[in-house]
Order: sequence, then structure tokens, then C-alpha cells
Amino acid sequence: MTGSSANSVVVVDDSMLRVLLFGFNVNNFLDQLIPRVAFSVWWTSQNGMSCLKPVIYIGIFYSIICSTYHSLLSCCGSIKSSLTKLAPVEAVLFDIDGTLCDSDPLHYYAFREMLQEIGFNGGVPITEEFFIETVAGKHNDDIALALFPGDLERGLKFVDDKETLFRKLAAEQLKPLNGLDKVRKWIEDRGLKRAAVTNAPRANAELMVSLLGLSDFFQAVIIGGECEHAKPHPDPYLKGLEALKASKDHTFVFEDSVSGIKAGVAAGMPVIGLATRNPEHLLMEAKPTFLIKDYEDPKLWAALEELDKAGAH
Ligand SMILES: [Mg+2]
Repeated sequence: MTGSSANSVVVVDDSMLRVLLFGFNVNNFLDQLIPRVAFSVWWTSQNGMSCLKPVIYIGIFYSIICSTYHSLLSCCGSIKSSLTKLAPVEAVLFDIDGTLCDSDPLHYYAFREMLQEIGFNGGVPITEEFFIETVAGKHNDDIALALFPGDLERGLKFVDDKETLFRKLAAEQLKPLNGLDKVRKWIEDRGLKRAAVTNAPRANAELMVSLLGLSDFFQAVIIGGECEHAKPHPDPYLKGLEALKASKDHTFVFEDSVSGIKAGVAAGMPVIGLATRNPEHLLMEAKPTFLIKDYEDPKLWAALEELDKAGAH
């Protein structure tokens, strides 16, 4: 949802919409309500009990008005300034799974079938919620430990076999995310540097990049498992910046998982979150700059237009 004025475009995201609809942001509301009610009670104690009710009501009403005002300011300000402060933009970093392509259903299918085959969870298929919580965006070592806590060797062999099945499925079914061509052109037209930064094993990453026709597009492919720490640590993104010789102050990230958003934010960059599969409320906890549905989302193009304008000055 976007709106525009003469000199700027204001992007309205979901959190801002909640503020507009419900009148306050819960965190700001509580932050401001508590001191004001405390002040009201103190003031009342100084001025007699007969004033208690009206003063508390006035305090609460005043809190709601103030918190709404501050929440709106914070929503508009953070989105508007978060990308424009990067101008002139120098580089863009992309996660791969769920960010360049909607590959999570293939991972989920492979895990579900193979885990059921070995009688995991008493032979009951894993749910999508379990997959999102335990697997999505995580490094294979961590997944192996989570699935087979007492037998890492078995876990590692299992995730290796699962990757073989995933690559077979990907070769048959992998498709780019909606609008990826458009954002690719935007980046190429501006001559920006670009890298893929992923927790996937190298064989998966290179296969997906190649299937998507992006082998010549990316100047580097950074693998979490080849860094000291994989995502959610910032190392893979810092390594991506280093490979491109780009500054974090002029680079932004596209990510679709909680783990990936945390990694990009920890590396000091704004992260545009893609709500491809993972629930928006979980993604928001990792503090993306804003969320988009895919690369066709008007919210993205409004922000990129703002970035262009800021770079032209
Ligand atoms: Mg991902």
C-alpha cells in the first residue's frame, strides 16, 4: 500500500496499517501509559481522592494520543529513511532459498518424505510449522543436530541425502520468484555489485543460481558453511561485502527467513524481508526494514524510487 506527496513517497507497511486501524502500537502504548498513570496517581494523591477517576482517564487518553503520534512517526520515518540513507547505493546481497526462488516447498517435501520413511516422530509426517521452526533458513549442521540430537553423524548423512533429493526436485520444478527479472534489470541498469549469500551447501547454491539463469549475474556466491559461522551470524554477509569490496553503508539485503534477516541486520545493513513462506509476525521479530510479498510489490518499487531520487541529489 503506497501513498505519494509532491516530493516524497511514503510507504505504508503492515505495522503502520495496524497503527492506523487500532490507534496505537502496543509496545509504545505500554511504554508511555505506565509513567503517565503513575504520574496521575501521584498527582491525585497530592490533590485528594475526588480527582482520581477523571485524572486517570485523562492520563490514559493522553497516552493513546501520544503513542499513536509517535508510532506513526516511527513507521513513516524508519521506512523512508532506511534505504535512502544508503544513497548512492553500491551493492545488493541476496539470499537464495525463498528469496530468489520459492524452494521451501521442495525442501519441505524432501524432509517430510524422508523423515517419515525412517519413522521420525513415530512415522507421523512433520508439519509445515515444524519445518519453519526447525529447518527453514538454518545451516545443515544445526538441522542435523535438531533432528538427531544424540547422533550427529547420522544427522549429517541424513541431510546430505536429503540435499540429493532436493537437487533432483529443483532441476525439475525450480522457478524464480515473481518479479525477479524486474529487480535484476534495476540492479544491472545501475551497475550495482551483487552477491548471493546462503546457508545452502555449495552444490545446491550453484545449481539454483544456474537453473535461475543467474550464473553471470552474481559476482560472488558466499556459502554459510564456508564461513567461521553461518547465518544467523553476520559472517556470511560480511564476507559478501568483502568479496564485492562494498561498504555496508551503501548496501542492502533481500532475505526470506528469520535466521537470514538476523544475519543481515547483525552485519549492519537494512534487510528487505520477503514473506514468501514464513509468517510475517515471525519475520518482523528479526527486524527487517520492511516486508514485501515478492519483487512485484509496490512497496519495494516505491522505496527503490526514493533511493534513486536520493542518489540523484
Ligand atoms: Mg532463505
